[in-house]
Amino acid sequence: MKINTIVLKVASRCNLNCSYCYVYNKGDETYKNKPKIFSKELTKILFNRILEYMNKYNINLYTIVFHGGEPLLAGLQYYKFFVETYEDIFSVTNKTINFVMQTNGTLLDEEFTQGLFELDISIGVSMDTTEATNSKYRVYHNNKSSYNEIKNGIDLCNKIVGNSGILSVINVQDSPNDTYLHLKSLKVNYANLLLPDENYNTITLNDTRGKIGQWLIEMFDLWFFDQDTNKPEISLFSDLILLILSLPHGNDIMGKGFGGTMIIETNGDIETNDTLRVCKPGITKSNFNIINDSLDTINDIPLAKLYYYAHHHLPKMCEECVLENICAGGYLINRYSDENGFNNESIYCEDIAKLICHVQNIIAKETYDDLGLKSINVKDVIEDIRNNKKTKYENKYLESF
Ligand code: SF4
Repeated sequence: MKINTIVLKVASRCNLNCSYCYVYNKGDETYKNKPKIFSKELTKILFNRILEYMNKYNINLYTIVFHGGEPLLAGLQYYKFFVETYEDIFSVTNKTINFVMQTNGTLLDEEFTQGLFELDISIGVSMDTTEATNSKYRVYHNNKSSYNEIKNGIDLCNKIVGNSGILSVINVQDSPNDTYLHLKSLKVNYANLLLPDENYNTITLNDTRGKIGQWLIEMFDLWFFDQDTNKPEISLFSDLILLILSLPHGNDIMGKGFGGTMIIETNGDIETNDTLRVCKPGITKSNFNIINDSLDTINDIPLAKLYYYAHHHLPKMCEECVLENICAGGYLINRYSDENGFNNESIYCEDIAKLICHVQNIIAKETYDDLGLKSINVKDVIEDIRNNKKTKYENKYLESF
């Protein structure tokens, strides 16, 4: 494994209490035993650990994503200290670290936004698909909507940084049209759409299978055929187009890439992608910590290995699927069940399949066979998938989690 991104839990608490949050509201309560803020002592240790790791694996470019909880709770002074410490340790090397922050945006004011901009920390804001949905789910601890503050944070990014990006979990209660219009009204440059963190155990409570595929198809059409040259880049769709064109690409949801991310908790614990906690409380817990252990110990965490190779260690059904190279089993979280571990196709298997077929057929038509891209019959693909599903294959490794 070669990890080139750390998601750093700068703060273990959050000023919001979003009902779907995997950190606080999906059964895992490990955050309660963690320090509230990643300390300055640990910051120095972390940079030395990263440098040690980059030297060992001959990596010149690394990324740190500030995450939480809510990373802005650490305060601007902390980020100034963080970047100064980085410069002290890395200025004598030929290695570089990019800094990115994923925030709920509510605490962004002129000073904080300007400060992050000057520190060269890129800002991504998380919000819901429309104002009404955001006001319903993305709320403060007193249930008050956070919409106005988030919108203000995005406006400040546009004004001070000159661009903005958002991350939203797909919500089929909002029509694709309302979602797209909302996206454009925010004037964001980038948007990332995430599948809900559901698995076979949880999907019964909020079963959106069948709806998500159609939602994504309509959303894709709105975006793809929009002639506005300032339309936002939606990475889920642009990545999919690249995959269909056989250009090597991948993200957590699709493609044959690798899960090159690890988590460092506010107490210095080394873990794999913490969204996997929604599968089973404590599933990502490890015995490694940056105080005593090198980042290399990520290799000794079985779940971290599975996450890294998630699109390569597949259930037999996915291996036999005609879309295997593009979908590659889907998002790992969506494959979990208590019964079979990760030896399942994605709960959104047919939704993803319909989207891939739809996009491939549009791209094939648009490129007039110039690229030799063939149309595919979605009915045949779904029938194949359903036939494959009839046989359950054992896979001891994937079932062991
Ligand atoms: S079977 Fe479903 S989840 Fe697996 S690769 Fe095919 S479309 Fe994706």
